[in-house]
Amino acid sequence: MNKPQTTRQTDKLLGMHRRITRRDFVQGAALIAGATLHPNALSDPRISGNAWAPDVNNRSDYPPAKTGMRGSHPGAYEVAHALGRDGAKFPQPTIMAEQYDLVVVGAGISGLAAAYFYRQKLGPAARILLLENHDDFGGHAKRNEFHQSGKMVLSLGGTHNLEWWNFSDTVNTLMDELGVNPHAMRKKMTFEYGRDAPNSPAMWFDQETYGVNRLLTNFSLRSRLTVEQINGIPISEAGRASLVAFYTAGAIHRSDSEEELAQLLGEINYPDFLRLYGGLTDDAIQLFDKDQHGSWGLEMRALSAAEALEEGYPGVHLFGHDWEEEDFEYPVAMWPDGNASLARLLVAKLIPEVANGVSADNVATAHFDYAALDQSGANIRLRLNATVVAAEHNDSGVSVTYVAGGDVQQVAAKHVVLACYHSIIPYLCPSMPDTQKEALKYQVKMPLVLTNVLIRNRHALDKLGVDAISCPGRLHARLFLFQGIPTGGYDGSEDSSDAVSLVFWGSISPPADAMDIRCQLRESRRKLLDLSLEDFEREVRTVLDGLLGPEGFDVSEDVLAITVNRWPHGYAYEYMQLWDPQWEPGQAPHEIARKPFGAITIANADAGASAYTHVAIDQAQRAVDELPEAS
Ligand SMILES: Cc1cc2nc3c(=O)[nH]c(=O)nc-3n(C[C@H](O)[C@H](O)[C@H](O)COP(=O)(O)OP(=O)(O)OC[C@H]3O[C@@H](n4cnc5c(N)ncnc54)[C@H](O)[C@@H]3O)c2cc1C
Repeated sequence: MNKPQTTRQTDKLLGMHRRITRRDFVQGAALIAGATLHPNALSDPRISGNAWAPDVNNRSDYPPAKTGMRGSHPGAYEVAHALGRDGAKFPQPTIMAEQYDLVVVGAGISGLAAAYFYRQKLGPAARILLLENHDDFGGHAKRNEFHQSGKMVLSLGGTHNLEWWNFSDTVNTLMDELGVNPHAMRKKMTFEYGRDAPNSPAMWFDQETYGVNRLLTNFSLRSRLTVEQINGIPISEAGRASLVAFYTAGAIHRSDSEEELAQLLGEINYPDFLRLYGGLTDDAIQLFDKDQHGSWGLEMRALSAAEALEEGYPGVHLFGHDWEEEDFEYPVAMWPDGNASLARLLVAKLIPEVANGVSADNVATAHFDYAALDQSGANIRLRLNATVVAAEHNDSGVSVTYVAGGDVQQVAAKHVVLACYHSIIPYLCPSMPDTQKEALKYQVKMPLVLTNVLIRNRHALDKLGVDAISCPGRLHARLFLFQGIPTGGYDGSEDSSDAVSLVFWGSISPPADAMDIRCQLRESRRKLLDLSLEDFEREVRTVLDGLLGPEGFDVSEDVLAITVNRWPHGYAYEYMQLWDPQWEPGQAPHEIARKPFGAITIANADAGASAYTHVAIDQAQRAVDELPEAS
């Protein structure tokens, strides 16, 4: 992002220095009275000294209720970066008197599922340790909790929903065992990703980028735009004319055969396609750039024209084919904290003391006792804030070394499942074959960011009649209201006067000169990590002021809390038409990467090269099944 040139005066108008939660979090304050600020937060210069330090949730030791910089939070990734980027050598570990049947590295959905399947296979006496570098479990399945005027407001911090129609038998069986019924969940929720309000979808053009603040309602680039709609777009006259010609065109190009057309569309990126075949100007093409930041985690130029057309973007009509206009049907099942509830159900099954009496019917509202996660003497333990730096075979099994609270410690295990990101595995297991290490490094995850802004109420959005807005000029490419999900025992109130989370969602644009896909992803990640909490705060306040200010939203009063969930390692990389060859069966990088390595097997969604919760579960089952003598 080009950081906005703000002045102190602008910051003041945006309410940047307001201690916003003091007045409103009376209930939350009572909940966490006496708790202390996380030590990592204190030492992070980006947190201390900014307006968020006094946030009552930040004083909480309850991970889901922390606000400020979450997702990959300060303190979570520094050890891993020291190992992978700087080649750090760690002091001799303290050998712990702990021996396990299984150590799982990473307590995301895949790691939790691996522990679950292993115990199912070996029985309740199996001793299992999960090591996780974050201060919360669930990985991408992250819960954001706000306490406002006596009510708990939930939102997702990462993974959104269950794509139940793609579940394997393994996943369906697990869901049954956890008491999860996606169909029943589906029936309860009214949330439709911002397609409910009368004037949704909408696109907002901001002054900084387009010279004027303007909201166009009932507007989507994937719909057949009318001349009148296009005339409202604040770009050059030539740009608008090119859009009119494109959207209203009939067949103007010839394609000799289906194969020829498929080849053409598979070899060109969508923006180039729009330029060459659609005749769009650069400023018209820019409108599309970020439109897939959320769904693909990528800039549009990373997608082939064929991939974009499959998503419903316009273009095939130029070749005389029917353009299937966006027909929004995405019948997902969802919890009010996204798939964090699934992670919580798994944890409650593995370590019942953490949340006695928790079931699928009340999981969303349950308070979890984090102190019970890692009890000495328990058969299953989950250790947070512990970054694994080595997993090495020895005569009796595997030694697993990790850094926790600055101490280097080592435990012994018969088996290890690596359910962490694949890119770190070559550093954890340096004696792995080089071909496998290379294959593991092929996986470069897609950076994502999901910023929850708790706003006082949704009155301003109701006046506009919108609940989802694309912002092609801003850092977060899309906003949507997160309401209407009464699953897991949560009160999914849709009262328009209640505080509600407005989700700012997307990725970070890489610089234009980042050409190759991995270069784009790494540059995007670097930019994401460079942004401070203050940058995000200024960004969301600027958007809210420009977008909702005219409808009476007072940005210095009506923003109640901000939680930035940054995911430098977000979606697992899925192979892309423009960037990856067609591999022979068994030869794709993820298939080579996930091969068992002695008593160590490899899970994570990366192992399926597919960024879905159900894939993370399937890969966990495979990794457990591949463990030698795990019976
Ligand atoms: C923002 C976002 C939205 C998504 N939305 C959806 C959706 O709607 N539906 C869907 O099906 N899927 C969705 N996905 C994908 C889905 O979340 C993932 O596929 C799945 O949750 C991945 O689980 P995992 O356990 O494989 O990986 P992760 O969740 O990444 O868990 C791996 C864990 O290992 C930890 N770790 C890494 N290295 C170490 C180390 N050295 N030591 C200790 N721990 C380590 C990581 O910090 C992490 O917590 C989304 C993903 C993101 C990021």
